[in-house]
Amino acid sequence: MSFKSLGLSDALLKAISKKGYTIPSPIQQKAIPKVLERKDVLASAQTGTGKTAGFALPILQILSSSRPLRQRPVRCLVLTPTRELAAQVLQDFKEYGEFTDLRSTVVFGGVGANPQIRTLRQGVDILVATPGRLLDLHSQKALSLSKIEVLVLDEADRMLDMGFLRDIKKILALMPSRRQNLLFSATFSKEIKQLANGFLHHPIMVEATPENTTAEKVDQLVYKTNKGKKTELVIKLISEGDWQQVLIFTRTKHGANRLSERLGKSGISSAAIHGNKSQGARTKALSGFKSGKVRVLVATDIAARGLDIPLLPHVINYELPNIPEDYVHRIGRTGRAGASGQAISIVSVDEDEYVQGIEKLLGEPLQSETIDGFEPTESLKEILDKKAENKAQNQRGRKKDRSKNNPKNSSGFKRRGRR
Ligand code: AMP
Repeated sequence: MSFKSLGLSDALLKAISKKGYTIPSPIQQKAIPKVLERKDVLASAQTGTGKTAGFALPILQILSSSRPLRQRPVRCLVLTPTRELAAQVLQDFKEYGEFTDLRSTVVFGGVGANPQIRTLRQGVDILVATPGRLLDLHSQKALSLSKIEVLVLDEADRMLDMGFLRDIKKILALMPSRRQNLLFSATFSKEIKQLANGFLHHPIMVEATPENTTAEKVDQLVYKTNKGKKTELVIKLISEGDWQQVLIFTRTKHGANRLSERLGKSGISSAAIHGNKSQGARTKALSGFKSGKVRVLVATDIAARGLDIPLLPHVINYELPNIPEDYVHRIGRTGRAGASGQAISIVSVDEDEYVQGIEKLLGEPLQSETIDGFEPTESLKEILDKKAENKAQNQRGRKKDRSKNNPKNSSGFKRRGRR
């Protein structure tokens, strides 16, 4: 099947061939004709399947087939959970829409609102946004959603995980009820179904299993070791394997920073990317990683969603996620575009229950090995005792800090200042 046979215009076909795509991906084959028919679509697809072009191409065609309205109000809104995904989606719209007259822009938090407001004032047809900043700008009257013709919720499951349901509902109420709705989600929980039932009209279901979530493309391996040996093991694997581009997942922002520092000290260039980093820092880390200047990117799940890193050979789970679906998202970062990749999980005994959850989701056991000198020797009780001790120590430390900084004496009364 060709892109031409999907009924796309010459302007779009030119952009597609400039991108070097020859065959539409399964999700594109299924979604593009339905979106062009102006149907509501409920799509099960995750990053790596070509889903963005699956909605961007037909939307560009629909909007360019009618003349822009005077003052160019926003006619298509794409909501995404993260800034990185929003930036990526905008870039795709710009590239696919290069030979159309349509204007698109992006708004998200973490950067100044004024440049965004100025661009919106000039009029745009397509707006990609994260929910919080969109609502901010709407309340400042910097934009109107009253002329929206097409709404896309991209990675809707992640938006709900991040607590955006209330924002989404508020945004839905700001738009005309007659519009086309497209919902993309990697998973279909009860909550997603409820959301979909609430605003999609007779949706067409389309589904694409990503090329890269199955075991045949991604070589998955678990290395069992002690908690305290994980960093050393990661350094050994990267150095001895001479891995040049590695994405590592940690569960916490703090953990991401700590690991990135340790790698740096071992001579492995590395950057951390997570929600506490400024937008500038995240963009810099990602571009350094893509260009090869940064060898390892250490990321939390939320920060990594939506990153477009093609052909990633190695993904390491420094800690396993407690949500099994997140594991599938993580390993979906490797073996993209048909290339094979390796996903390694470094697992301590307290994570055994996560391994079981993942195996249940995958429907098969994960292959597990040990490396000489890194065999697991800790018991679960030892880890739990250590955790409790650390917690108590932290609490004691915080108390000490408080009494040092607080101008109260230990009896709780304010000390008199010197007269
Ligand atoms: P997405 O799932 O939208 O994040 O896209 C994943 C990657 O596939 C991106 O790097 C796209 O540029 C690329 N891509 C999308 N559609 C095609 C296609 N039909 N042929 C080859 N690559 C594609």
